[in-house]
Amino acid sequence: MAKQVYNFNPGPAVLPKDVLRQVQSELLDYKGTGISILESSHRAAEYEEVNSSTMKLFRELMGLGDNYKVLFMGGGASLQFDMLPMNLHPKGGTAAYVETGSWAEKAIKEAKKVGNGTVHVAASMKEEKFGRIPKQNELKIPSEAAYFHITTNNTIYGCQWQYVPEVGNIPLVSDMSSDILSRDMDFKKFALIYAGAQKNLGPSGATVVIIRDDLLAKCAEGLPTMLSYKTHAGKDSLYNTPPVFAVYVVRLVLEWIKNQGGLKAVEKVNFAKKERIYQAMDLHPDFYRGTVKPDSRSWMNLTLRLPSEDLEKKFLSEAKAAGFIGLKGHRDVGGIRVSLYNALPLEGAEKLAAFMLAFKKAN
Ligand code: PMP
Repeated sequence: MAKQVYNFNPGPAVLPKDVLRQVQSELLDYKGTGISILESSHRAAEYEEVNSSTMKLFRELMGLGDNYKVLFMGGGASLQFDMLPMNLHPKGGTAAYVETGSWAEKAIKEAKKVGNGTVHVAASMKEEKFGRIPKQNELKIPSEAAYFHITTNNTIYGCQWQYVPEVGNIPLVSDMSSDILSRDMDFKKFALIYAGAQKNLGPSGATVVIIRDDLLAKCAEGLPTMLSYKTHAGKDSLYNTPPVFAVYVVRLVLEWIKNQGGLKAVEKVNFAKKERIYQAMDLHPDFYRGTVKPDSRSWMNLTLRLPSEDLEKKFLSEAKAAGFIGLKGHRDVGGIRVSLYNALPLEGAEKLAAFMLAFKKAN
């Protein structure tokens, strides 16, 4: 029996145990083929079925129609920081970004480097140490922008958009790497969504890009082949060898989400999980000091400081001994970060909340 551990790693992160068991049971013989999916050709019928059914599951879970293409790529979400402006930032045009944390900063930096026009920062929360998400009336929206980019969840600083900004006719683009499929939302408001798989979707190695047809049609021509969304869309993500194993696991995770009852059901559990932890923090706000304003608090990465770094060290080591791993804050910010991705069970959040209360009492 494996030791009971609750995995709060920020990514790569916890996967559903049922999914891991299924991977294990199919690993040596994928659906009677006599070979592993790891050994299969990406041109084989078995993988084509994985590829197309995973695309279909994304659309189904997100309530999107056939006018959205689902693409699987390598390169992580970080490659999308470059591909997005290369494809969609026209010569002399403007691309708008909201600066809500380190990943948004990186996206902006790349847009300045490889985009073809002006990068407009619609709001920056840097001066406030990324402690909240800007309100709608704080966004300076340039009417002529080619797209408007947000990062729905700020993995490092622990804040999350709790509304979808109104940007008129400008295509709304989002990096959803750390909160995709964690709750129900109107995904149709977005023209392009991208996410690395390694938090809510599966293992690292696959990145999903979901792009609406009208935006795809506007993508630049003449780009390096592999950096063009049109290449991948035109070949149903089979232009070159895709991350076969990672996409296969993503499919299993999406089926797991569907079996839970879809995004509404997942949202309900995620709500309960984050409530347990924030309630424990709010009972002792001088001890467990949240770093984010309540209206911007993330459901996925909950960030806090303790009164001293020594206490934080003690908290982390006692938590680890009790089976709660991966709670160390990002090296840029320190402190504690509780990542509550989809596959972290409610019981894990409940037990961690109880541990927090006991730790406060003892210290
Ligand atoms: N965006 C966000 C919001 C992230 O959390 C991360 C990774 N933690 C990235 C982008 C970068 O992803 P990758 O490592 O897949 O390039």
